[in-house]
Amino acid sequence: MRIAIPKETDASEQRVGGTPDTVKRLIALGADLVVEAGAGLGSGIIDADFEAAGASIAKDAVKDADVVLKVRRPTAAELKGYKAGALVLATMDPYGNEAGLADMAKAGVAGFAMELMPRITRAQVMDVLSSQANLAGYRAIIDASAEFGRALPMMMTAAGTVPAARIFVMGAGVAGLQAIATARRLGAVVTATDVRPAAKEQVESLGAKFVAVMDDEFKQAETAAGYAKPMSAEYQAKQAALVADHITKQDMVITTALIPGRPAPRLVTAAMVASMRPGSVIVDLAVERGGNVEGAKPGAIATTANGVKIVGHLNVPGRIAATASSLYAKNLFAFLEIMIDKAGKSLVVPWDDELVKATLLTKDGAVVHPSFQAAAA
Ligand code: NAD
Repeated sequence: MRIAIPKETDASEQRVGGTPDTVKRLIALGADLVVEAGAGLGSGIIDADFEAAGASIAKDAVKDADVVLKVRRPTAAELKGYKAGALVLATMDPYGNEAGLADMAKAGVAGFAMELMPRITRAQVMDVLSSQANLAGYRAIIDASAEFGRALPMMMTAAGTVPAARIFVMGAGVAGLQAIATARRLGAVVTATDVRPAAKEQVESLGAKFVAVMDDEFKQAETAAGYAKPMSAEYQAKQAALVADHITKQDMVITTALIPGRPAPRLVTAAMVASMRPGSVIVDLAVERGGNVEGAKPGAIATTANGVKIVGHLNVPGRIAATASSLYAKNLFAFLEIMIDKAGKSLVVPWDDELVKATLLTKDGAVVHPSFQAAAA
């Protein structure tokens, strides 16, 4: 059982699919670990750390590997080096990327999309969306604070009193709740909104105030899986009016609103941005999925005519790569563990397991996931 940890080829990706800790644990289960030279550098892990954990270092780590642990979906060029039948665990970004899925099918690999992991209790330890979104929420406040020309906490000094910053968090899922907690730790006055009624109590339990139009539609706005439903145009208009009035008084806005498989909802208009004071900062964590904020630029910090900064960093978990890798690698380990027969020290994939079925995109030369088969045909 040969397991490879390659270096990510995307220049903007600092994370890595394994750490010395997960390498040790996989070796204990009977695997041979091969790490590509320099794979961990972006996350502060040198080759010698991987070697000390028991891995060997190679230039061509994926050659003959039975399992490849990746952060991002392998490109067609990368797949050329993979063995047919290899298991590939990664965040596959499958929606709208049919060509990439077809490449994996063509290479004959069994590709698992970690972001399709069901959000059930058993799979919590494998939930990459949560482990990475949590860090993105934290980092959003750090990034916003770095761009903000003022302090966050109230300070009473001999030279005068500094008021606490006001921060509004839009979307109180995993990222939003961590943004709220981080902003509160730094002493800001925090408000938050979401379309899921369950979010109200969670927001309040963190010491923030919940701001939303709480009508009958709001009370029904959560799917059985716990995700947000797209809201009616009428609800969106009522909510926008409430938000417009609230945003004018904010120093920072952090937006995190997503709806699975759809473009991010537009929550902050250019007029709302124009109503904010100069020096205010907005961080749009949904920028990669179309953005919640009008005027947000993917991968850039845009400054509006009225002096508001809109931060559109890409891959925000990758901006805190060492911590992100350590949690991501544990997520991958936990999933791979269910495919390892401990007595036989070999790979035995339980193809009928609900977690395997939910995440498996490609197998035996075909796209097999029901949500992506039609698109690939
Ligand atoms: P997400 O990343 O899909 O979306 C972020 C947030 O944006 C969500 O809270 C969503 O309701 C909100 N949103 C969507 N449209 C909006 C709009 N128009 N206005 C304001 N907010 C809007 O969500 P997520 O962070 O992945 O979490 C989704 C749910 O899954 C949550 O209920 C979360 O607690 C739950 N969850 C459960 C588990 C588990 O049980 N294993 C693990 C993680 C998350």
